[in-house]
Amino acid sequence: MTDFDAIVIGAGAVGENVADRAVQGGLKTAIVEAELVGGECSYWACMPSKVLLRSGAVLATARTVPGAREAITGALDAAAVLRRRTEFTHDWDDDSQVEWLESAGIELIRGHAVFTGPKTLEVTAADGTVTELTAAHAVAVATGSVAVLPDIPGLKEAEPWTSREATSAASVPASLAVIGGGVVAAELATAFTALGSRVTVIARGRLLAKQEPFAGEAVADALTGAGADVRLGTQVERVETDGSRHTLHLAGGSTVVAEKILVATGRAPRTGDLGLDVLGITPGGWLATDDSMRVLGPDGQPLDGLYAAGDVTGRALLTHQGKYQARIAGDAMAARASGAPVDTAPWGVHAATADHAAVPQVVFTNPEVAAVGLTAAEAERRGIRTRVVDYELGQVAGASIHSNGYRGTARAVVDEDRRVLVGVTFVGPDVGELLHAATIAVAGEVPLERLWHAVPSYPTLSEVWLRLLETYGRPRVVAPEPDDPASSAAGSDA
Ligand SMILES: Cc1cc2nc3c(=O)[nH]c(=O)nc-3n(C[C@H](O)[C@H](O)[C@H](O)COP(=O)(O)OP(=O)(O)OC[C@H]3O[C@@H](n4cnc5c(N)ncnc54)[C@H](O)[C@@H]3O)c2cc1C
Repeated sequence: MTDFDAIVIGAGAVGENVADRAVQGGLKTAIVEAELVGGECSYWACMPSKVLLRSGAVLATARTVPGAREAITGALDAAAVLRRRTEFTHDWDDDSQVEWLESAGIELIRGHAVFTGPKTLEVTAADGTVTELTAAHAVAVATGSVAVLPDIPGLKEAEPWTSREATSAASVPASLAVIGGGVVAAELATAFTALGSRVTVIARGRLLAKQEPFAGEAVADALTGAGADVRLGTQVERVETDGSRHTLHLAGGSTVVAEKILVATGRAPRTGDLGLDVLGITPGGWLATDDSMRVLGPDGQPLDGLYAAGDVTGRALLTHQGKYQARIAGDAMAARASGAPVDTAPWGVHAATADHAAVPQVVFTNPEVAAVGLTAAEAERRGIRTRVVDYELGQVAGASIHSNGYRGTARAVVDEDRRVLVGVTFVGPDVGELLHAATIAVAGEVPLERLWHAVPSYPTLSEVWLRLLETYGRPRVVAPEPDDPASSAAGSDA
């Protein structure tokens, strides 16, 4: 039996951050990990997928810039891209992350954790050794999510890839059928097209359905332009496998033949094997939380000392957003343990308010999609009186310098009653780095009149901010000029 103040289950990016903040708050903290410290993001998701995408993106940009274009002497070196990916994943070895845990004062316990009571756990290591752990104050669940395999006849027998196998692939298949139309499907279809696979994307609806409609359209056009076959509004009804050849039968009777199948049809929470029933929670579902990241029980009330953060909550399946929740969970755990004040008011220190209003996301396709806050449709659904402002990014001076024929779109969704931005979307090459300015504007609820004073540098892509404001209309006078002679004299002195 080993006693701690706090125990975190899952040492992905999120769990690591919960534990770090708990330690910084004075809690003796253990973290339990069943696989690799660093979790999905480091080894099978964000990092390897972005490395797989980066070389193709650089090459695509170089092709559009005279002078650089002439220097291109060959095709993408897929083997070199895969080697760089393997360097980033440290060949799926977590030594460096274990060192970080040690330096942060977090105790690592390897094995699979199961609840035996509200603050007690049993951890079974790979060699069968069982350790019992007790937390005096809190347990945080950060067990992440897993890929969902749809129930399509013949699919399982085809031994499809999920994002794990795709991001850790040792070679590039000659042809790849991607089932799904979300972020993971769009990114990996872009990566493998650039790496030389003949890619077919099969999606039930449009691409990137959660983004503004023009985002998915631009990505579908670009994929098609790069040689991929994009089939939208259809679905796979069954799969036939003959050796290394898979035939996917689609609704409507057409077929797709591919050497490999990648399934990217969504994620499910990793809560099925945690023993949650001893806490009165049905295993297998997303863990609902309040904004200080306390898990809600079946009656909708927070359970004492039980927290969750990251993918497992279903709030926003993104590393940066999970780490934001983690900072809040770790700080709230420590504050409650020491009896310090806890501020759970909206935008308070211990409230993950941005999850509802200002979640940023970059989709690293080519073109990139960078969005924060609400789409126009979502803002309308929430009953906000909106005005939508669009601008063609290619018309900005910085875009014309970035590359010849730059094409892209920016959209700002304005809350007309509060005169603040509630959503911003950029689509175009390299727009990802534009996003944080938009995130600050949305999370900070910066009034439009003040945004006019945030002057973008010339000639950068950021000048699109000025163009969006000009398209919206000139600023209003918000405060009358002071008529007090004393105050104007003070102004002129300054
Ligand atoms: C292909 C792909 C690309 C992505 N790209 C991006 C991106 O570019 N940017 C971005 O922000 N997000 C991206 N994401 C999402 C991102 O990977 C996740 O949001 C993030 O990994 C979630 O972190 P987490 O710590 O909540 O979960 P995880 O990283 O899944 O960590 C959970 C950990 O808990 C452990 N665990 C589970 N159950 C137990 C148990 N019972 N006992 C002990 N340990 C347990 C697991 O082994 C795992 O290590 C991507 C996802 C995919 C699939």
